[in-house]
Amino acid sequence: MLILHYTGMRTGAEAIARLRDPMAKVSSHYVVEEDGRIHRLVPEDRRAAHAGVSHWRGQTALNGRSVGIEIVNPGHEWGYRNFPALQMAAVCDLCLDILARHPIPPRNVVGHSDVAPDRKQDPGELFDWEGLAANGVGLWPKSDPPAPPAEAVLGLLGSIGYRTDLPLPVLVTAFQRHWLPRRTDGIADGETRARIAAVAALCAAGA
Ligand SMILES: [Zn+2]
Repeated sequence: MLILHYTGMRTGAEAIARLRDPMAKVSSHYVVEEDGRIHRLVPEDRRAAHAGVSHWRGQTALNGRSVGIEIVNPGHEWGYRNFPALQMAAVCDLCLDILARHPIPPRNVVGHSDVAPDRKQDPGELFDWEGLAANGVGLWPKSDPPAPPAEAVLGLLGSIGYRTDLPLPVLVTAFQRHWLPRRTDGIADGETRARIAAVAALCAAGA
């Protein structure tokens, strides 16, 4: 898996210092600064402590099966802001490098909020997942089918990879942050249900 985060600290320097501090017990394979500089903190064949309690497609303890990238941004707590174009270009190049080295399917390129929807919001609704997918990183539907009935939503979210033992609005919000970022209200309206069906269909087709 490839799991993307924001650092959620006031500055990049502060975040990097914490990720390098053994006492902090958090780490990531890479950090990408807002000016596009990339730091490698942990070799890809070593475990980094970035995901915490997490779940995707029936797997847990995702630190043992993922590469983690921390992307410098103050996050929702300290002044969430747009990811600069230089930074996104660096993230994209880094992801393409990683994907060239590891057999990671598009559906397993996710955000921290996808794998820990009850705890995490990162990298958040300002992150350009659609742009990354246009460059071959991750999964984005080209069009949406008719909206499925509300009763189908939980099953479809589970088939995408989300754990299904959390309140539905929590799961829908996490989905929206990634695949319908202009709304993060947790309401499974027709547009959201249609997008959920579109992503689920790509997953079912083997993406
Ligand atoms: Zn995170």
